[in-house]
Amino acid sequence: MLKLLFYSSGRVGLDTNMPTPDAKFSVSLQAWCSTSSPVHVGSFLEFGYDKKSAKGPQHWGDLKEEWSACKKGKTQSPIDLSTNRVELIPKLGGLKYWSYKPQHATVRNMGNIVQVNWVGDAGSIEINGTHFFLQNAHWHWPAEHTINGRRYDLELHIVHVSPQPDGTNKTAVIGVLYKYGSPDPFLSKLGKDILEIPEKDDEKSVGVIDPSEMMRGSKMYYRYMGSLTAPPCTQGIIWTVDKKIRTVSRGQVKLFKDAYAKENARPLQPINQREIQLYFQMPKNKPQY
Ligand SMILES: [Zn+2]
Repeated sequence: MLKLLFYSSGRVGLDTNMPTPDAKFSVSLQAWCSTSSPVHVGSFLEFGYDKKSAKGPQHWGDLKEEWSACKKGKTQSPIDLSTNRVELIPKLGGLKYWSYKPQHATVRNMGNIVQVNWVGDAGSIEINGTHFFLQNAHWHWPAEHTINGRRYDLELHIVHVSPQPDGTNKTAVIGVLYKYGSPDPFLSKLGKDILEIPEKDDEKSVGVIDPSEMMRGSKMYYRYMGSLTAPPCTQGIIWTVDKKIRTVSRGQVKLFKDAYAKENARPLQPINQREIQLYFQMPKNKPQY
């Protein structure tokens, strides 16, 4: 029998010298949880972001069979969006690819992250003629995607799905990057609610939320094929990362850090010859004389 050791750093280890019957172990663990402190709640989550932890990003692919893509996948996210790798794609007639509508939403504590879930039809984005319907939005700090090697301070992921005839979903995610500066108005609205769901799986209704407050405009965006950035690291995700860098205050990111995890960004993954496109709006033609 092996005993799991939970360190205050969030690391989980095995004590091979201490045979402990399973039942006793679970009882002693419960007792330990309720009496010992401090320990970060992340120790009890299925995966984490501490590189020194056995549940850290480099081990995700080994933790569960269903998560093997995290280790073996060849089109994983996030990646560095490097200018010298992009293919420029001019678009006529504007870049607006989203049509969102206000809808009832909840916020949910997912352990490492906080997520806004829309509970009805909150609109969709259109990619190559396919509609992907808005499901949820969540944040990573610092940002997961980098641009020319620069890592920003926060990244919002807006997740959309398109139901397929075979019962599966296709997923498209929009990434929005933030650097420290003025507060983000969307987060300012949610600030108090995020603190009122202290335990994992706590959820509360936040009334009607207009998703278009997250994305008001886009002049250029990157697009590439990647994966979910957390287990199960499912591939085949269409990524759109807005080139515009928005701002968030240090206080807003600190709220996340204090309530959830010190950080929750997956390290960069190999690009492996993938194409990255940079879409931009074609300037209007000058009058011809
Ligand atoms: Zn994400």
